[in-house]
Amino acid sequence: AKARGRNGYRFYAPEMSGEGVARLHLETYLRRSIEKDEIFLHYQPQVEIDTGRLTGVEALVRWNHPELGLVPPFRFIPLAEDTGFINQLGQWVLHEACRQMVRWQEAGLEVPKIAVNLSVRQFERGTIVGMVGEILRETGLAPHRLQLEVTESVIMNTGDALAFINDLHAIGVSLAIDDFGTGYSSLAYLKQMPVQTLKIDRSFIKDISTDANDEAIVIAIIQLGKSMNLSVIAEGVETEQQAAFLARHGCNLAQGYYYSRPVTPDDILQRWQQRDDN
Ligand code: C2E
Ligand code: CA
Ligand code: CA
Ligand code: CA
Repeated sequence: AKARGRNGYRFYAPEMSGEGVARLHLETYLRRSIEKDEIFLHYQPQVEIDTGRLTGVEALVRWNHPELGLVPPFRFIPLAEDTGFINQLGQWVLHEACRQMVRWQEAGLEVPKIAVNLSVRQFERGTIVGMVGEILRETGLAPHRLQLEVTESVIMNTGDALAFINDLHAIGVSLAIDDFGTGYSSLAYLKQMPVQTLKIDRSFIKDISTDANDEAIVIAIIQLGKSMNLSVIAEGVETEQQAAFLARHGCNLAQGYYYSRPVTPDDILQRWQQRDDN
């Protein structure tokens, strides 16, 4: 429908545009994606820079639609958040990730930790703590093996975030602040919260060797983490130079294409099981 703007018919409801139609299709497909077995997880290793040791993996959701092909998360996560489907999706992801940890264990690979992304909508519901506890019980994964990743905006924009985070901490789950440095973060908040890990956003790592500002930001985050007794991990590490810079400045944890892209459970098993035997 047309909305009457100041200068005539300028505004159209999004469903009238081509993009709106595409979005509607995507939304319909997405709603069915879980039951149709189109959703799966890839896992990206997190490593200790100086030893190359595996310290954990991050679970990253993938959607393979028979006609659309592989739809990237930046196209369907925001849509899932808008429609509320993220709650179902998030629950599926968490369950699958925890189950995969147990499968690796059974296959002889002890992955120290799994990181799972949570969206702000999952906090709004107020059922997050119960859901996490239930999934841990059901899968048998030890709570300390699970780390939940939330962005700064989740913490700042959710009224009860602090209470939920305290409850999650109480059941033994750890918390990481994702994309740290990009959002509106209050250091006072950080101090109040039982957070274990800061994850330096990829955008700061990218130009580390050419951009003095980015270097300064990265160093500052590492120092901040240290002074607050938090572990700091850098995401989006693509080169040896970036890894060396981080290690030199006291950040010994990294995740990125330099070490591995997100891969299948089998790939994780094959690459890291052998290392375990060494
Ligand atoms: P994120 O949580 O910041 O995840 C890291 C993203 O960076 C992933 O993109 C990963 O593939 C990519 N990445 C990792 N290393 C490198 C690197 O060295 N270079 C570059 N250029 N990229 C790298 P992906 O898998 O496309 O996910 C994008 C975003 O979608 C995630 O960003 C996260 O915000 C969201 N997402 C993914 N899975 C989930 C999920 O299960 N639940 C929720 N709520 N969000 C998810
Ligand atoms: Ca993440
Ligand atoms: Ca991130
Ligand atoms: Ca990011």
